[in-house]
Amino acid sequence: MRAIRRFIVQPVLPESLKPLAVLARNLRWSWHQDTQDLFEAIDPVLWEETSHDPQKLLSRASRERLDTLAGDRRYLRHLELAAADLSDYVSGDRWYQGFVSRHPEAPKAIGYFSAEFGVSSVLPQYSGGLGVLAGDHLKSASDLGVPIIGVGLLYTHGYFRQSLNAAGWQQEHYPVLDPNELPVEMLREDGEPVTITLTINHRPVVAQLWVAQVGRVPLLFMDTNVDANDEAARSITDRLYGGSADHRLAQEILLGVGGVRALRAFCRVTGRPDPDVYHCNEGHAGFLGLERIREYMTSGDDFDTAWEKTRAGNVFTTHTPVPAGIDRFGNEQVANEFGDFTPLPIDRVLALGAEDYEGGDPSRFNMAVMGLRLGEHANGVSRLHGKVSREMFQGLWPDFDVSEVPIGSVTNGVHAQSWIHPDLLELLQAQTGDSETVVDGLDLTALDRVDDNTLWSLKRQMRGEMIKMARERLVRSCKSRGMSSEWVSNALNPHVLTIGFARRGASYKRLTLMIQQPERLKKLLNDPEHPVQIVIAGKAHPADDIGKGFIQQMVQFSDDPEVRGKLVFLPDYDISLARPLYPGCDVWLNNPLRPQEACGTSGMKAALNGAANLSILDGWWDEWYDPAYGWAIPSATNAASPEERDRMEAESLYQIIERDVVPKFYARDANGLPTGWITMMRETMEGLGPKILATRMVRDYVTDLYTPAAQSASALLDNDVAANLAAWKQRVRQAWDGVAIDRVESDLPNPVAVGSRNVFSAWVKLGSLEPTDVSVQVVSGDVDADDQIHNVRIFELAPTDQVDQQGQLFRANLVSAISGSIGYTVRVVPKHPLLHDAAELGLATVATAAVAGQDR
Ligand SMILES: *Cc1c(COP(=O)(O)O)cnc(C)c1O
Repeated sequence: MRAIRRFIVQPVLPESLKPLAVLARNLRWSWHQDTQDLFEAIDPVLWEETSHDPQKLLSRASRERLDTLAGDRRYLRHLELAAADLSDYVSGDRWYQGFVSRHPEAPKAIGYFSAEFGVSSVLPQYSGGLGVLAGDHLKSASDLGVPIIGVGLLYTHGYFRQSLNAAGWQQEHYPVLDPNELPVEMLREDGEPVTITLTINHRPVVAQLWVAQVGRVPLLFMDTNVDANDEAARSITDRLYGGSADHRLAQEILLGVGGVRALRAFCRVTGRPDPDVYHCNEGHAGFLGLERIREYMTSGDDFDTAWEKTRAGNVFTTHTPVPAGIDRFGNEQVANEFGDFTPLPIDRVLALGAEDYEGGDPSRFNMAVMGLRLGEHANGVSRLHGKVSREMFQGLWPDFDVSEVPIGSVTNGVHAQSWIHPDLLELLQAQTGDSETVVDGLDLTALDRVDDNTLWSLKRQMRGEMIKMARERLVRSCKSRGMSSEWVSNALNPHVLTIGFARRGASYKRLTLMIQQPERLKKLLNDPEHPVQIVIAGKAHPADDIGKGFIQQMVQFSDDPEVRGKLVFLPDYDISLARPLYPGCDVWLNNPLRPQEACGTSGMKAALNGAANLSILDGWWDEWYDPAYGWAIPSATNAASPEERDRMEAESLYQIIERDVVPKFYARDANGLPTGWITMMRETMEGLGPKILATRMVRDYVTDLYTPAAQSASALLDNDVAANLAAWKQRVRQAWDGVAIDRVESDLPNPVAVGSRNVFSAWVKLGSLEPTDVSVQVVSGDVDADDQIHNVRIFELAPTDQVDQQGQLFRANLVSAISGSIGYTVRVVPKHPLLHDAAELGLATVATAAVAGQDR
C-alpha cells in the first residue's frame, strides 16, 4: 500500500531534556565525544541500532526512559554542561576574530560551494575524498571562527550504498533520504518555506532550502524534490554523480547559479552580511561566476566590468591532476542552457570555458578552464599537485614560464576531532592557549608523557575495535552474498600487523597492485610467526565496470580459503566505516600512479592515529615523507610500459613489506614491546600532526587566498574602479600588437663574477601604450641545452627619458646573485596596480635572439 500523505511525528522531550534537541540539531556532536556520550547514555542499544544518529535516537527513545532521565540529577548536570559548552563554542571569539583585528581587510563572509559535503555519516551527501574534505573544511573553519557558509545540493538518494553479490560484483542501492529525518532544517521566513527559482532547460525550476548547522557554520542545501516542480525538475537533485551529461549540467547550474541565489536568500532572512569571497571547491560549482556577473550586469555594469568584480573575489580550487577527471560539456549543451541567460552574451559565456589553446578541443566547454578565468585566486591541493596543475593549464598562459602560471597550492588537511580515536584524542587534548607545542587545543607532544606500554595497549585496543566492526560487517556481507559466515568469528587478529587500504575504485589508485604476485602476498599473510593482515574497502563509480572488476578481483582473492579472514574486503566504505578503520591500522597503504593522486587524505587520518604510511611519493606524501613516518614506494617512471611499471612498483612494495615493515613491527624488546615501531608512531603524530591538520589548511586558505580575494574585491567596489580596470585591459589587449622589443643590450662579460653589477638596457616600442602600462623585465634563470630558461627570476627595468626611433629606453643595474649556467631574456608584460598577477591577461612580448644587441 502506498501512503497518500506523509507527515512527521516529532519527539516531545520533557522540559528539562529540551537542550538535547539543540545538541542533536548542531552537527558539532559528531566531533564532540562528550555530547555523544550523552546520547549514548539515553539508550546504548538504540544508539547502536540508529548507527549513532541522535535525531533518530530521540524520536525512538521510550517515554519511560526519557521521563527517568528528566529526573536524573547527574544526567541533567552533564546535559547542562554540554549545552553550555556548545553555546560557548558557537559564540566566543576564536582564532579568526584575532586575525581580523590584525587584518581588517579579511573577508566578512565566504561562500563555499561544493557538489558534495561529507560532514557525518548521518548526512550522507558525499561520495568520497572531495566531500569529506569539504566537511573537514567547514568543521575546521567553525573551530577557527571563520565566517564561512557552505552551499551544496541535498540529494534524495545521496550516493549509493554498496554491497556485493556472490561473485564479488558490486551492487548499488539507493535508499531514499527523507530530509525530515536528516539533521537539516527548512529555511523559513515568517513561517513560510523560502525557495529560489531558476531556469533550467528553458523552464522554471524551484528549489527548497535546507540548513545544516556544522558548529558555527551554516551549510545550505538546495532540493528540487518539491511539488511545484515537474518530474524532470524534481529529479535534478535525485543522486550524486549519477545520470547523463544533461543531468549533470542541470545539477551544476543549480549548484552554481541557484547556489548564489540561495546564499542571497539565506543572508537576507538571517540578517547576515553577503559573502565578499566565493570559493568554488572543484569545477562543479563554476557557474556561480556567471550568476555573479549577471547580478552586476543587472545593476548596470557591462560584461567586462562585471567580470572584473566577480573574478576579484572568486577562489577556485582544482582537485584533479588528470585531464580526464575534469568536467566538460558540449558547447551546444551550454549554449542551450545559457542562450537566454540575459543579459550575458552567450559568446562571452562560451569563451569563458573555451579550450582555445594548443591541444584543446574547440567543441568542449571546460569547467576548470572557466574556473580559472572566473577566479583570480586559484590553487591545487598539494605542492606537487600545484606544480602538475601549472603544467596542465599552461596552455592558458603560453608566453609565461610554467612556474608563473597563477595557480598556487594549499595542501589538504584533516579534522583532528573527527578522525582521531576518542581515547587517543583524550591523551592529546590540551588546555587551550597557544604555546610552543599546542596547536588548536591539541598537544601533539603530549605522548611524550605516555609510556610505551600504555601507547601500545591503546593501539591494540584500537585494532580490536576495528576488528569488531569489521566482523560485524563481514557477517552482514556473507549473509547478503548467501555464504556461510562461520569463519568470520576468527577473521583478523588484534596482535597482527594490520595494513589498511581504502579508497574509491578509480583505476589510477591501483586497488589490485598488491595481488600482482598472489603467492608472494599469500606467504606474507600466512607467515606462521610474523604474519600480515590487510583490510580493504572502496566503492567504484556505478558506471565504472573496470573499477568494479578490480573490486571483484580483490573479493575473489579474499574468498580463497587459504587467505580468508587474513585479507578482508569490507563493503560500503563511508565515514562510519572509515572512522574506526584508520585507528585500527598500523600501516596505511597507498599506491596510486604518480602524480595522479592530487593530495589523498586517508593517509593523514591514519597518521593522526599513529599509523605509518607506506605510499608512492604522490600528493601530500611527496611533500612530507620522512623515513621517521613510514616508507616511500619508488615510482618506476622509466618503465617501458604501464604493465612493466605496475610490475616494478609491486616488486618494490613487496620488498619494503618483507624487508622493512614486518621486521620492524615484530622486533620486540624484553617486555614484548616493538620499541622502534612505537617511536615511529610517536614521531608520526608529533612531526606530521601539526602539518596535516585541517586547521592548518583553513588558516592557509584564509591568509593566502580568502584575504587577498577580499582585498581585490573591495578594491574594485568603488565606483568606476572596476570599469576603469576593464577598459584598461581592453585598451591594452587592443594595443598589444604594437608592442615590440627593438634591441637589448647588456655589459655582461663572460664569465660573470657572482656579485658583479651590470647594466641591462632595452629599447621597447610601445605603440599607443604609455610606459606606465607595461613592465619591462629581465627574466633570468638556469638554461638547458635548448636554451630554455627554468627557475625564472624576474627583475624590472625602469623607463628612462630616452625615446627615439627604436622606441623608449628601459634600463636597470642588476647584480648577478647566483652562479652557474645562467641565461636571460627580456620581455614586456602589462602592468597595472590592480593586476593580481603579471600573467593575468596572458599577454607577454618576449625578446628573440634577433633583437639582442652586442654583449660586451
Ligand atoms: C578520507 C576519506 C576518503 C578520501 O581518501 P583518499 O586518501 O583521498 O582516497 C574517501 N572516503 C572516505 C569515507 C574518507 O573518510
